[in-house]
Amino acid sequence: MSTINLQELHDTEFPLPEGMQGNVAITNLSKIYNWSRRNSMWPLLFGLACCAIEMIGTAASRFDFSRFGMEVMRATPRQSDLMIVSGTVTKKMVVPIVRLYNQMPEPKYVMAMGACASGGGPFKEGYNVVSGIDKYLPVDIYVPGCPPTPQALLYGLIALQKKIDGQSLANFDDVPWYGVGPSEPTPIPILGPDIIDPRQMDMIRRQAELAALGQPVGVRELPSKPIYEAVPKQMSARAAAAAEAAAAPAQADPSAEMVLELRKKALARKRAFDAARGK
Ligand code: SF4
Repeated sequence: MSTINLQELHDTEFPLPEGMQGNVAITNLSKIYNWSRRNSMWPLLFGLACCAIEMIGTAASRFDFSRFGMEVMRATPRQSDLMIVSGTVTKKMVVPIVRLYNQMPEPKYVMAMGACASGGGPFKEGYNVVSGIDKYLPVDIYVPGCPPTPQALLYGLIALQKKIDGQSLANFDDVPWYGVGPSEPTPIPILGPDIIDPRQMDMIRRQAELAALGQPVGVRELPSKPIYEAVPKQMSARAAAAAEAAAAPAQADPSAEMVLELRKKALARKRAFDAARGK
């Protein structure tokens, strides 16, 4: 368990007489708020693959999470503020992972533990593996290694504590949850024949239209940087689209119309092909 270090809490802006140092602390709201949060993080209790065994080892008596106030691993996202993504993230699992993240109350943090969660690891080219959870969630700390040792995970937790220390209640742009109003949920990926990120829906639709017209679709445009960096902009566009949709009179679903149109074109192409073959 963390012991109270008043010198750590004291704001150096207010000098104290030497005899009082360590017994009295004058501090600010951000500092004491961050200090309380960072010493009582509750990780979400779930593991994905071999890295989870190392995480379990870190929680056991030899390494001991409790020294960081983190031993209360919660089996529900609604009581957790830290998600440790420990292991290989498959396309099937990324859907519930994002859903769980959305169910966590703010302030909340994500740690990518190990090579798999950070970038796909040894399975990067696998047909069923996501190349890093940061394509879908805003990752705060990456813990390298395959598998990372408990010491590496502890180092990551200390790095996370330092990151929390640096956040400020006075700066609304610092983290989304200090701003005004609720944050928007992260879009939940859709698992079809392949995983689809709803934020890429326009691009996927464009390419489907080109493919239906028989034109080259080009290469798939993967985001050049982690998606979460572009989230605020995309989210405000989504919010604007939602407000516009709410204000507009109800009309037919445009995607259903598009599917119908594509189906008609495909049938016309088939008829032309059959006619050419003399069927
Ligand atoms: S990083 Fe290595 S140890 Fe961790 S889940 Fe992937 S393969 Fe397993």
